[in-house]
Amino acid sequence: MSQSRKGRRLQLYTYEQLPKWYQQMESPYITAGYRNNLSYQQCLRSIFQIHNETGNIWTHLLPAILFLPLALYDVAVIVPGLHGKLADYVTMAIFHFDNQITLLASAYFHTFLAQGCKQNYEQCLAVDLWGVAMATAGNSLIYVAYAFCCSWWWQLFYYGLLGGLMTWYSVIWLHPRMVPGWVSLERRLLAFFPLWVGVLAALALHTLHHNRHWPDNLAQLLALHYWLRAVANHLVGIIVFFFAKVPERWWPGRFNIWGQSHQGFHIVVVLSQLFWRRAIISFMQMELQTFC
Ligand SMILES: [Zn+2]
Repeated sequence: MSQSRKGRRLQLYTYEQLPKWYQQMESPYITAGYRNNLSYQQCLRSIFQIHNETGNIWTHLLPAILFLPLALYDVAVIVPGLHGKLADYVTMAIFHFDNQITLLASAYFHTFLAQGCKQNYEQCLAVDLWGVAMATAGNSLIYVAYAFCCSWWWQLFYYGLLGGLMTWYSVIWLHPRMVPGWVSLERRLLAFFPLWVGVLAALALHTLHHNRHWPDNLAQLLALHYWLRAVANHLVGIIVFFFAKVPERWWPGRFNIWGQSHQGFHIVVVLSQLFWRRAIISFMQMELQTFC
């Protein structure tokens, strides 16, 4: 039994001390502060200890907790205040439910990745990826409800498409036998491609054309909201923080505990969800059904 399993004090490792497979999953710019060989309970306890995943856990766990009263406020105050219809309550509920899935799936991954086993790490990572896919697809479901409010046929078509994608993501990232084949970076990008490029582009461009008769540039406004959320989340979050690994790339070792790029990525995700909540409220205020 390892040292860390025996004692209550959390033993931390440098990047160099990690096994090869663990190094391949992590960034060499985060040079120390790694947990390893922890039991499930020790991982759980480590939420309240300081290591290089503490910031990653709390940048999503804390918002998940804070979003709960906000969800109550939205359903009990905001939607009734706008004389919302049943569909508005449903979209707001989907938004908050989806948001919780994403934040908690991420917190789960960052908490339990340190069990010292590649298979466990991959299963936890897959849950995180599933959460990201559910958020993007769930937000698109909400967008379809408003952007195609004048066409039940197109609504049905996109619900079917998104539902199919969500089922596929649930299979490849929640089924233990599928996970090893679908967690590599190349496979992740391949899996996300139809959602990020196909659905995002098709939905925004199609609504511009479909609703071109709407007054006051409402169609453009709607598509712009949808794109801004995606662009902020995907371009800033994923390219600047996730791939470029700034700032630790410039000062390796200086951001081992606080301020590392992944925490920035998490904050962008939370901000983009807050922005999307504002957008949903604007969609409700537009009363788009009156233009059908
Ligand atoms: Zn993360």
